[in-house]
Order: sequence, then C-alpha cells, then structure tokens
Amino acid sequence: MKQLIIIADMEGASGIFDSNCEACLHEEVYPQNALWRSYGRACITSDVLAVCNAATDMGIDDILLYDMHYAGCKESNIELDKLPSIVRLFDLPDRSIMWSRIRGQAAIEPYGLVTVGQHARNGEANAYFAHTIHTPPIQSFYINGIHVAEIGESVMCFCDVPYLANVGCAASHREALELSPNVTCITVKDKLRKWEPTPTETYPIIYAGISAAIKDYSNKTAYPHSDRCICELNLTEEYRFRAPDNFPWKGEFTDRSATWESHDEETALSLFWRMHDYIEKRM
Ligand SMILES: [Zn+2]
Repeated sequence: MKQLIIIADMEGASGIFDSNCEACLHEEVYPQNALWRSYGRACITSDVLAVCNAATDMGIDDILLYDMHYAGCKESNIELDKLPSIVRLFDLPDRSIMWSRIRGQAAIEPYGLVTVGQHARNGEANAYFAHTIHTPPIQSFYINGIHVAEIGESVMCFCDVPYLANVGCAASHREALELSPNVTCITVKDKLRKWEPTPTETYPIIYAGISAAIKDYSNKTAYPHSDRCICELNLTEEYRFRAPDNFPWKGEFTDRSATWESHDEETALSLFWRMHDYIEKRM
C-alpha cells in the first residue's frame, strides 16, 4: 500500500490573486461573499485533482487529504465529489487543526507528503497573501530555527515522511526548501514575474511536476524528527501575552513572545495552539 498524504491550503491556489482575493474567503465566515463558491473552490479543486490524478497514475493507491483552509468551518473548500474515489479525508471535527489526531490516522510510514495551495510566510517578498498561520496576531513562529507557517506545520507533523512536492505561490517554496532541500517545487503563480495563469493552464504543470517528483522518489528526503524541539512564537505589535501563573509545559512568556520546548514535533505544534489562550489585544 502506497499512502500519499496531501495537505491543502487555498491562498496559494492557481487563479487566485490580489485582484480576486475574495475567492479565498469562506462563505461560513463571509456569507455575503459569493466568489468563494462560484470561483475559488474550483481553483483549489483543480490543483488538488492534478496532484491526485498524477499520483494515481504513478501507482499511489491510497490518498489521505487534509483541507486546512478556514479550519473550523464545516464545508470543505475542495469540491470533494470531483476527486478520485481513492481519496479519503482525515476524520476531524469541522476540519480542526488537530495535528496528533491527523498523524495518528495516517500509516506509520506513509509513502510521501505533498503540500498544495500553499502561500508564503509573513514577511516573505513577492508573495500573494503572505502570513504565518494567522497574522495578526502571529508575527512569526520558529521551531529549531525554522520559521514555520502552514507548510512547516504540515511537514513537521509528518516528519520522517518523504516530502515529495510543494505546489503554490513561487514565494512559498522558500519555506518548503528549508524543511527539505530536495522537495519538488511546482509554481502556479509568481508575483515577481507577474505570471498569473488560470487553473486550466497550471493543471498540466502540476500533473507533470508531481509525476516527476514521484519518479525521483529515491532522491526525496524527509524533515527529520528531532527529540528536542525549541519553539518561539512572536506576536505582532498590537498584541501581547498575558502569562498564566503556572502552566504544565517547559517555557516562558515575555510581552510579545512565548518560548517552549518539547520532545517531539506533534507536541510542539499542539502547544502552539495552547499559547493562543494567553494572547490579548493591547488597549
Ligand atoms: Zn489558508
């Protein structure tokens, strides 16, 4: 059994640019916005379908998909009825970001990981919709010196799993390459080069890129598990931490940063969400 893990976001999907950015805004949060349903969903669906079709044609026989954009909203961004029948979804309440539960549902040794629809981190140049998980309040998040956003969370959750490809905004590849230097980078839009193709134009590019990545499997590497994860979460200026009197992990708070350490990536990522209980907006 060759199990492929696909983790999808949406800001880095084909066909979604500054000029039509509403396409990313989920209807459950923005009920007045029609573009998500009429256009945006088809964009990310086309990209994910290209990944699934290439993977299936290359002999992958099990695909587990996590659609993480607007986690907490019930409806998937991806039009699931358009995907091949071998695609299964992670079982999560309202697609919540529960990394341990996600890792636990996958095989012990999945064949590989692909990230798709990915955007760049907060602060990256020439990026569409750059942010780190949610900016504000998050300015940056580091695990063992790597600035981790949605790509980093996904790859670290699946540490030791070969990271095959990243599909997204050209500026998103910098994070992917820091995690695994041999990852195949498939660009679907590039702000620096003013290249804004349609999903129909990028579908064959994604299909060819994923096929090539799987052919090059022996050269693919994983982000290695570390049994000492040093974490640092920094806030944007208008937010601060209100530190609790005591807490059950090893760490510290200052006005705008929280630091902690853990023995594995899953715990490091879970604690990231615990820190949110102590973030408040400055008066
Ligand atoms: Zn997103």
